[in-house]
Amino acid sequence: MHYLDHNASSPLRPEARAAMERAFDICGNPSSVHAAGRAARRIVEGAREQVAALVGAKPEEVIFTSGGTEANALALRGAVEGAAEAGERITRLFVSAIEHPGVLATVAHLAEHAPGLRVETISVNKDGLADLGATTLREGKGRALVAMMAANNETGVIQPVENVDTLLFVDAVQRPGRYDNASYVSLSAHKLGGPQGVGALIVRDGAPFAAPRAGTPNVAGIAGFGAVAACARIDSTLRDRFEAGLPSRAVVFGAGAARLANTSNFALPGIAAETALMALDLDGVMVSSGAACSSGSVKPSHVLKAMGVSDDLARCALRVSFGWNSTGADVDAALTSIGRLVARREAA
Ligand code: PLP
Repeated sequence: MHYLDHNASSPLRPEARAAMERAFDICGNPSSVHAAGRAARRIVEGAREQVAALVGAKPEEVIFTSGGTEANALALRGAVEGAAEAGERITRLFVSAIEHPGVLATVAHLAEHAPGLRVETISVNKDGLADLGATTLREGKGRALVAMMAANNETGVIQPVENVDTLLFVDAVQRPGRYDNASYVSLSAHKLGGPQGVGALIVRDGAPFAAPRAGTPNVAGIAGFGAVAACARIDSTLRDRFEAGLPSRAVVFGAGAARLANTSNFALPGIAAETALMALDLDGVMVSSGAACSSGSVKPSHVLKAMGVSDDLARCALRVSFGWNSTGADVDAALTSIGRLVARREAA
């Protein structure tokens, strides 16, 4: 089996499994004062330090969540509500056109329900890079908030978040790291080889924020998250090797921009993504068509559309994403399967 869909979810790293197994033996609730509670609390606090170190934050700035989607919704709602409570209402929310669907859904909700909030879209160029020059990020009364992801999950294109100088929320799920100019940063464990259903929102000291009341945390999941936060990041050369071996008719999206080293989004014109995905799956090669959450629907990706890709070509888009346990054999298997698919099509 060749699993090449790490941007959707990465297999559990042994470091995370070991930390979780240790945590499963602790029965206490971290808010209990007895010995078992204190043991559970030590696990959570240790992981909090590891996650904070990953993004250069203070441990007390880390809020654990049930994943990236929840962290994203919490960031946006918490910022808007928190600013209103502090009497410094956010009046303009700028959101890049290529954000994760959960971010776009929360923004749409806020546009409808937050009083006086105007939403504006930041467009992207043909390489999938947010065009900050095309938008005036301040202007007008009240505060402005910008929502921009660190790197896009579909194309891997790295976004210019460091150039934003207003209140900033960065969805760093696909590219965890230091974003010192961001007031809110979201993370997800399973994209790094940690468990699914665990994430974090970093809220910088002093940033406006309305925090919900915390419940009993997922101690074992958080332990697994902490363990992967401390693992070295992957700097993969597999992507370049993969793209060099693609058939000449393949179109690679975002190739003109800086991208994550692990992600390739490409189309084989004339071969629908769903068809290619199934053909590759039969050969034991698992890739994604567009974003995982929109697989099963034949709607072309909103990310590729925002880049000006035609619907016809976008319907042929496949995403290959490598991860911590990917090997050259995975690249070779994927290229062999793609080559066979293209040859069958050409012979038909
Ligand atoms: N943000 C980005 C950029 C993502 O790629 C994803 C996962 O698909 C998410 C947020 C959601 O994370 P989670 O699956 O932990 O809810």
